[in-house]
Amino acid sequence: MRLSKPVDIQEISQALQKDACPICMLLKNLQATASRNVTSAEVVGLCNFHAWALAAAVDLARVAEVFLKLLDSADPAHPVTCSICARIREEEEQRLKELVDKMLGNNLRNWLVEQGSICLPHSEKLLRVAPVKLRPSIEKLIARRRADLSKELEEVRDQARLGEHRGGGVLGHAAEFLVSQRGVRTREEDKC
Ligand SMILES: [Zn+2]
Ligand SMILES: [Zn+2]
Repeated sequence: MRLSKPVDIQEISQALQKDACPICMLLKNLQATASRNVTSAEVVGLCNFHAWALAAAVDLARVAEVFLKLLDSADPAHPVTCSICARIREEEEQRLKELVDKMLGNNLRNWLVEQGSICLPHSEKLLRVAPVKLRPSIEKLIARRRADLSKELEEVRDQARLGEHRGGGVLGHAAEFLVSQRGVRTREEDKC
């Protein structure tokens, strides 16, 4: 699969958008940048997802170098982890901490609870690293987003039953909330 184009987002506040998970946005961006710039010197291994993402890259010389190195070093007896996944996990950890720091301020916390979104996989991770006093806000945010999406999905379902096939965007938002944005690897089973 092809990866999205990286955009210039440096800070978590730039990734805050109504109804979109800021951690997903930052990770997607990092993944796109890392895949575009990764060199043979940095790579020790690649997972299925990232090897195929690189196979679709336009920078043939760079990617050929990466694959040459992996062909040379691959040893089925000693599988190695994916260098891009490792980089993403590092970033995820840092960004979650950054989000916790920002949520300690009232403005961002209230905004998130009222109109923001954090996908379920990142909410679980956030709950693990956040101080106890932030828990009620995170739980409120999850409950509000869940209720909003349920209502929208019910409308799509009822209209579709009446022959009105619109609102596909709602399905995408629901998928995003349930399993993170498309191509963002967050679950344990995704780890290599
Ligand atoms: Zn997310
Ligand atoms: Zn990977």
